[in-house]
Amino acid sequence: MSEGIKCQNCGKTISEDEIFTTDGKTLCEDCYIDVGHRIRVCDPWGERSKKIFRKSHGLEGTDGLTDLQKKIYEYIQEKGKATRAELMENFSLPAAEMENQFAILRHCQLLKGKKEGDTVYLVLW
Ligand SMILES: [Zn+2]
Repeated sequence: MSEGIKCQNCGKTISEDEIFTTDGKTLCEDCYIDVGHRIRVCDPWGERSKKIFRKSHGLEGTDGLTDLQKKIYEYIQEKGKATRAELMENFSLPAAEMENQFAILRHCQLLKGKKEGDTVYLVLW
């Protein structure tokens, strides 16, 4: 209730670890993915394999991801958590591309945002 951030598209209240920004707009995950026509979410997986992954959380978890998405996932797996800025620097990603990759990984329930103090980290789902 203290966090009064609203999605500028659908008006849903979103917490700081669920925010996506594009073209200066603050959006929730769903709207970001709707707007971000450049990104294709979890295509190789489908709903069914997503559920299987969620159950097993096994080694095949990153199947169907791009090499970059795998690297980001593995990086966070190794470190435990990372900020967007850290990932952008490590993988030479522009901010918009970082948002895209995170949106995909979040939608696949591989990574999520986690707020600690004033910093939002990306952590394993
Ligand atoms: Zn929205």
